[in-house]
Amino acid sequence: MANPKRRHSKARTRKRRAVYYRQLVTASLPLVECSNCGNMRLRHHACPSCGYYRGRKVVDVAEFA
Ligand SMILES: [Zn+2]
Repeated sequence: MANPKRRHSKARTRKRRAVYYRQLVTASLPLVECSNCGNMRLRHHACPSCGYYRGRKVVDVAEFA
């Protein structure tokens, strides 16, 4: 049976995971700049400040204000 000869150091494990964990953090908060007003908005969501999505007004923001 194949077995590891040496145990990984904590640093080695953490270095490997650092890449993956960073992706998780950025994926949980996918903020992008709105192309219409420049505000930060969630990716794949209409902009909360101007109601635009993909260059088109999809939500009337004044309704929720
Ligand atoms: Zn906007």
